[in-house]
Amino acid sequence: MKRVSIRAQMLACLFAFTAVTVIAIWACQNLFLEDIYKAYKTREIKDASAKISESLTEGDLESAVIAAAERYDVCVMVLAERGSFEPVSVDAAAGCVIHRMPSIELNRLYAQALSSEGGIIYFSAEGAPVGKGAEGEQSIVLASEADMGTDRAIILLNSTITPVSATVNTLNRILMIITVALIVLSVLLALVISQLIARPITRITRGAARLARGEYHIHFDGGGSKEIDSLASTLNYAKDELSRVDRLQKELIANISHDLRTPLTMISGYSQVMQDIPGEMTAENLQIIIDEAGRLTSLVNDVLDISKLNAGVQTFKRERLCLTELAEGAMERYSRLAAGGYDIRCEFDEPLYIMGDETRVLQVIYNLVNNAVTYTGEDKRVTLRIFRRGEYVRLAVTDTGEGIPKEKLQDIWERYYKVDAHHKRSAVGTGLGLSIVRGIMREHGGGYGVESSPGAGSTFWVDFPATGQ
Ligand code: ADP
Repeated sequence: MKRVSIRAQMLACLFAFTAVTVIAIWACQNLFLEDIYKAYKTREIKDASAKISESLTEGDLESAVIAAAERYDVCVMVLAERGSFEPVSVDAAAGCVIHRMPSIELNRLYAQALSSEGGIIYFSAEGAPVGKGAEGEQSIVLASEADMGTDRAIILLNSTITPVSATVNTLNRILMIITVALIVLSVLLALVISQLIARPITRITRGAARLARGEYHIHFDGGGSKEIDSLASTLNYAKDELSRVDRLQKELIANISHDLRTPLTMISGYSQVMQDIPGEMTAENLQIIIDEAGRLTSLVNDVLDISKLNAGVQTFKRERLCLTELAEGAMERYSRLAAGGYDIRCEFDEPLYIMGDETRVLQVIYNLVNNAVTYTGEDKRVTLRIFRRGEYVRLAVTDTGEGIPKEKLQDIWERYYKVDAHHKRSAVGTGLGLSIVRGIMREHGGGYGVESSPGAGSTFWVDFPATGQ
């Protein structure tokens, strides 16, 4: 389905709003104005009558009549049936009929009005009585009487209802002008508002297209509204993550190719020399080739492990293992190192059991102990401790080496990270060991960590979920 632009939507909304407003005003003017005006006039004349009735018993009748006539724009006639007070009369409104009638007719009119609904009768401009809803100019007469004890007051009020058609015509013409002005305003408003909303979106869309092409230096600006600001900050976050992944990937490829090249150069170089010069066919040179091939194998294995862990394609067995027994078995493999002055100990109080995958658990132990052996201090001591810690069994490997600076403690778990890439010892490893440990521990639902103080050695620990005997 083809979507409509924000500008078109805005324009449609504002046009609809204008149309509804104009139609509502037009309907009020043309259909209801006359009725509203008549109802208003009728109410006014009733109010005036009520005011005058009040002043008959209390206050000054004459000034009350003058005030009411002025305020409500009506003609007034107040007469005493038995002549107990002087009649009061104000002829204020144009088109008044009560002051132009002979008294006989006035008497008839009075009697007729009193018997009508609400004491009101309507006359046409020509003086003929008409119905309430009649068109054209009208005279409206209200008759009432008030009992004054010995006498009775007769109150007659007269006001005119001018036809609204002329007013309506004028209003309709004004409405036309207002309609045109509203349409122009709607178009302008639609342009401005859609510009305000659409411009940042268009800018962000252009930025996203550049991001897709790998331009990670761009910055997404919000501006306009809260929603667009949050879209911009989400995109900035996505951009940072993409650029980080991209950088890591490039580093990984650079590192792998570098690490592969060194042993490969050595292997091909030495084999070439051994082939060309018969005297070079020595056991030492052969050992170098074997060692380098070994390095190559472990590097390739590490890289494979990492990618399998990352892809989540490896299946982990979950079986009951005796961690202490596994660790002891692994330590035996290091016993050869004792001849080189290494003091590797394995300490625990009782056999401890965990749930895990044997091959992976051994991989964790070897990685940690290998690092400890590589980085341990002059005394060449490495201690492996296994103990129960709540729901977990902890395996901690302590060395006496230089330790790791505090600010690097987080990074060492990253792929290919080496604290000091130029350090002789760091050249030994691939920088993948701890990353593999992290991946395996996550798969086991266990924890991992390191405590280290520079100069005093480090303790790497891992927590495996414990299980009973
Ligand atoms: P590598 O194969 O380089 O040892 P690792 O991922 O196992 O890679 O370790 C990452 C980095 O962490 C190492 O290069 C080293 O700088 C640091 N590191 C690891 N273990 C220790 C340790 N026991 N003592 C000091 N530094 C260590």
